[in-house]
Amino acid sequence: MNLSSPLFTLKGKSIKELEDFFDSLGEPRYRGMQAFRRINKHLARSLDEFTEFSLVLRRKLQELSVFPSIQISHLSEEEGDYGKTKKALFSLPSNRAGERQVEAVWIPSHRRRTVCISSQAGCSLNCLFCATGTLPFRGGLQIWEIVDQAYEMTRSFGENFSNIVFMGMGEPFHNYENVIRAAHILHHPEGLNIGARHITISTAGVIPAMESFIKSKQPFELAVSLNHTDTEKRSEIMDVNRKNSLERLLKMSRKFTKELGRKITFEYVMIPEVNIGQENVKKLIQIAHSIPCRVNLIPLNTNLRGWSRPSPETVYDFQTQLLDAGVTVFNRGSPGLRIGGACGMLALQKG
Ligand code: SF4
Repeated sequence: MNLSSPLFTLKGKSIKELEDFFDSLGEPRYRGMQAFRRINKHLARSLDEFTEFSLVLRRKLQELSVFPSIQISHLSEEEGDYGKTKKALFSLPSNRAGERQVEAVWIPSHRRRTVCISSQAGCSLNCLFCATGTLPFRGGLQIWEIVDQAYEMTRSFGENFSNIVFMGMGEPFHNYENVIRAAHILHHPEGLNIGARHITISTAGVIPAMESFIKSKQPFELAVSLNHTDTEKRSEIMDVNRKNSLERLLKMSRKFTKELGRKITFEYVMIPEVNIGQENVKKLIQIAHSIPCRVNLIPLNTNLRGWSRPSPETVYDFQTQLLDAGVTVFNRGSPGLRIGGACGMLALQKG
């Protein structure tokens, strides 16, 4: 870390990094902890809220421009059974690739308030059912840009969230270091202290990063976007499968459950004529019987390829066959469908 870099920010830093920063300014090291709490527990919007700092110090920090912020530039809302699902569009500071925007979604449900956040501006993978992959790719987000999406929604909506999922724009494991550090900040007892089991990181199946996740014994939940049961056909809808075959992906998923002693989640976007035939049901049951897991069904939300959405009866029937075979399976439904905020739809459209 280069403390004198003009790009240094107080946000997205560990307590140790903040202590080192204040040390370099000739301030006591405990300022690091104070700043960490202000940012990550009290969700300060400006340096004026750092009331334990002298005015002189606050002014100095102001001059150093170490407290950037992101704002919601557009909000779309959809009424649901448990409150409003809200999709927030954020404008981020431009980088070398140009202007950057991302979206995050607030999803209330029976017992939860879930925030779905983005880890990259666009996505370099091209999953055929996902609108994000059609956008120009503008790189991975900084740690503070990731956590600030959740903080800004909390501040704006005046409500705390209980769960956080890294399932917005981008492949989280293509921005591995920043995503893991962001998750640890959200989990930190001096911050919002979100339970590790309430933080889920999703991947389309980037196997080397899954291996690092397992090796470093990350405490967070892992979800794999599975979406097919045949490797060749999976490659046709998910480029990532060409280098990270289904067989290796399942092997790594099994390793996750064995070494970390937790279930893995398999996400399954249901696409009629593509991945919900009888052979897929059979294979999915075999997979679920051989790897401790839960399966989340997601009825297709986009129509990028002229594919249609499965009927509720088709989803019910598919789910019932899995349930009858003893598989733990949920229908995730499509909260945010009408505002372009459901799974696979994030594409900077103002819904
Ligand atoms: S599903 Fe995820 S990994 Fe695939 S293109 Fe969309 S954002 Fe990228």
